[in-house]
Amino acid sequence: MGVSTDISVAIAGAGLSGLCLAQHLLRAGIDVHVYERDPGPFVRRQGYRIILDRYGLEALRESLPRPLYNLALTTGDEPGGQLRFTDSRLRDAFSITFKDDPYATRQVDRLTLRSILQSGLHQRIHYGKQAVAVENGGPAGLRLRFADGGAAPATVVVGADGVGSALRAQLMPDADPANTPMAGIYGRSPLERNGQSVIPDALRTSGVLAIGDRPGRAFFFTSMRFGENPQEAFARLAPGSYAPTGYDYVMWGLLLRQEEVPIGIRGDLLALWRQASLMSGDFHPLVRRLVGTAELDATVLNLFATGQRPQRWAVPRATMMGDAVHVMPPFGAHGGNTALRDAALLGRKLVEARASGAPVEEAIARYQDEMVPYAFRAVDTAARLMRRLTGEAAAPHWVLTRVLPRLHRVTVPEA
Ligand SMILES: Cc1cc2nc3c(=O)[nH]c(=O)nc-3n(C[C@H](O)[C@H](O)[C@H](O)COP(=O)(O)OP(=O)(O)OC[C@H]3O[C@@H](n4cnc5c(N)ncnc54)[C@H](O)[C@@H]3O)c2cc1C
Repeated sequence: MGVSTDISVAIAGAGLSGLCLAQHLLRAGIDVHVYERDPGPFVRRQGYRIILDRYGLEALRESLPRPLYNLALTTGDEPGGQLRFTDSRLRDAFSITFKDDPYATRQVDRLTLRSILQSGLHQRIHYGKQAVAVENGGPAGLRLRFADGGAAPATVVVGADGVGSALRAQLMPDADPANTPMAGIYGRSPLERNGQSVIPDALRTSGVLAIGDRPGRAFFFTSMRFGENPQEAFARLAPGSYAPTGYDYVMWGLLLRQEEVPIGIRGDLLALWRQASLMSGDFHPLVRRLVGTAELDATVLNLFATGQRPQRWAVPRATMMGDAVHVMPPFGAHGGNTALRDAALLGRKLVEARASGAPVEEAIARYQDEMVPYAFRAVDTAARLMRRLTGEAAAPHWVLTRVLPRLHRVTVPEA
């Protein structure tokens, strides 16, 4: 059993959860290094926004130095707003109103959030390091091994390497995610054209999920307006850190069946965008305009999957967080929030173990015992929402697209 007065932690994956845990541990003075497969910090466009709920915001508040937490809030969109469920012509079926409380739910730009999470970690994030396995041995007890043949010693190894995790088969055997029938082609488009917002005033603070005329088809969009310009806010609160340019945009996603995305076009941005354009042809003209003005290189394909409850954890001083454990379809905005919540929880458990001298194995086991119930409740909720909103069941689809919209006036005229 390891005595934890001299913990060192190796994290595979510099995504939301890996970086949040690194911030948390570094704040407490624990030796932590993050190993990321990508060759650099911004090689992939991560062009969409993310909604942080109270768990995500609380995890950031607990893990980040105060100026970085304030940076996330000040660059985020204004609090409040609504999520509207409509038919394909954008007639309201029903809507959910978010609390107008800056600490309850906030929409933030993902690239900006990642820059914030990287601030101050530069010497501790190692790019071009693709984790492949965890081994016993070495001076610290474990070694994280990389595809290039190298290895990093650590007392604790954490797999935060996302949905396609390379470490999952070893650390959580028998918990490979299950595929779903659904997918999303996502994109982003400038919010302003010729000095005018492309989103009508009626939808200024709304996210919209427009349910298609046929089951299994929907279109989502929402605008992201930066509260404070990231360049100015970074200069004030995190001088020297990379600040994204940050112009306002509309993030959108066409939800469709995986079988409607031929394997041959899945890596081809232009073909994916064309498919989105073709398949959104039946929607309101505003939807078609959004797809028509998309920035091609921000196109992303996401094949929805659901994580499976782990039955056993195979390496007592290694664990996992985020999508690597509990990937979920993006319904309800829980995936990133649950990943951040994991990071704060595991960070807290490791910091407590170091303070008390308790074995790290126990701290990790307690993290896993707490994380699995809340994370898989979120997976179940997201999967249920996906089935309800895009499933084959004729009655809910009929109510959403035929009955409820007739009870409301036209929200966005089609002219
Ligand atoms: C379109 C879309 C919209 C979403 N909107 C929301 C939202 O509004 N709210 C919300 O809560 N969630 C949202 N999510 C989900 C959220 O983005 C994810 O749940 C979250 O990013 C998971 O964080 P993570 O740290 O587990 O993994 P990631 O952020 O995916 O990071 C994993 C990292 O590991 C790296 N990596 C992979 N393999 C290796 C390896 N072998 N070795 C080293 N590094 C490796 C990857 O390059 C990546 O940097 C959305 C997802 C999508 C696709």
